Amino acid sequence: MTDRKTYDVAVIGAGVFGAWIAYYLAKSGSSVALLDAYGPANSRASSGGESRIIRMGYGADDIYTRWSLRALPRWKEIFAQAGRPELFQPTGVLWIAHDKYPYAMDTLTALQNHKIPHERLSLMGLRKHYPQISFDDNAWGILEPESGVLMARRAVQTVVEESQKIGVQYRAAAALAPRGEGRVTSLMTSHGETISAGAFVYACGPWLAKLFPDLLGQRIFVSRQEIVFFGVPQGENLFRQEALPTWLYLQDEFYGMPDLENRGLKVADDHHGAPVDPDTQSRVASVAAVASAREFVARRFPALKNAPVVETRVCQYENTSNGDFLIDQHPDFQNVWLVGGGSGHGFKHGPSVGEYVEGRVTESTSAENKIEPRFSLSTKQTTQGRKIH
Ligand SMILES: Cc1cc2nc3c(=O)[nH]c(=O)nc-3n(C[C@H](O)[C@H](O)[C@H](O)COP(=O)(O)OP(=O)(O)OC[C@H]3O[C@@H](n4cnc5c(N)ncnc54)[C@H](O)[C@@H]3O)c2cc1C
Repeated sequence: MTDRKTYDVAVIGAGVFGAWIAYYLAKSGSSVALLDAYGPANSRASSGGESRIIRMGYGADDIYTRWSLRALPRWKEIFAQAGRPELFQPTGVLWIAHDKYPYAMDTLTALQNHKIPHERLSLMGLRKHYPQISFDDNAWGILEPESGVLMARRAVQTVVEESQKIGVQYRAAAALAPRGEGRVTSLMTSHGETISAGAFVYACGPWLAKLFPDLLGQRIFVSRQEIVFFGVPQGENLFRQEALPTWLYLQDEFYGMPDLENRGLKVADDHHGAPVDPDTQSRVASVAAVASAREFVARRFPALKNAPVVETRVCQYENTSNGDFLIDQHPDFQNVWLVGGGSGHGFKHGPSVGEYVEGRVTESTSAENKIEPRFSLSTKQTTQGRKIH
């Protein structure tokens, strides 16, 4: 195929959102250029981690339950198509709640309403099935046995490869922000190349705030997030996925995964960290983050109290004011779209975001996928009040 420079749509950013948007646009017949400044799921990108949870529970935020439900079969389908089914690991997802924790109660209702397979576990059940975890006396659980983990970095790269097979032209390039107003006909890259297209989708994750500082500088809150992997004891099976699902400890705001691919127990602090710049922030874990993860592990996984740290990761969330995604037209440019605000929970929804944006850009949004006011720019505030996660 010869390289062209005029497309129906140029998608800027090959993270999970941009990759799926490009895929669905190409599937519905558009010619698509996909650009990334550092490469698909690079180590600075929010999609660049090894693993991301896909779960159906979202408290009372039904749209995300529906989008997640829709996304999982699409992930499995593309992995099967690419001959890489292992990129979804069906570990199951265990919610650990206390008393009548509202988010967990609402999750239970949503799982029931949508007939999503799940099991409610009493304290006794939790202690029986998961002796490696220390539970408080008022704990209870919900297990989603069919949910699990997407092997994120490789998953995004697979979507980009599958997109290229159906005509998407990927190029390594950094796009500049559009200039002027009204209808944009082309964009410039940082190397002076011009790319013409009928529409431009900026799916730049945490970089949206830098590319559109006036519009989004105060509306996308980029926070440092640190992940620690603890090595499991020799020959110990209790931390393998056969014995331990992916877990979310609601009260502690920590979550993690079993010893997938022998990388150790993944432990992530879900509290928002300090504001950072995705280009330049240090990717070396801080002493404080490791200490806090160790304190959590000592309390909740006592057998790993003195376990060595075998790996760390530093990434960033790109939060909107309340955690709802941003998917909208740029107010100054009718054919420029802004897509992001994954807010620490966006990865799983990649296929649903892709389908939705394809519908919006090509104006073929079906009734099933109707315009969602929660994603509009006008709902994005300049102060944070985290609600969706
Ligand atoms: C530590 C951590 C844990 C998480 N856990 C989960 C989880 O368990 N489950 C879940 O569903 N979600 C999770 N998330 C959230 C999820 O990973 C993100 O919401 C999602 O990856 C965001 O994808 P994106 O495509 O919007 O952004 P990104 O992946 O950051 O992609 C944006 C891309 O745009 C490119 N780019 C930027 N500027 C330009 C430019 N000017 N020109 C060209 N390219 C450009 C970048 O190089 C980058 O590749 C987690 C996030 C983090 C950080």
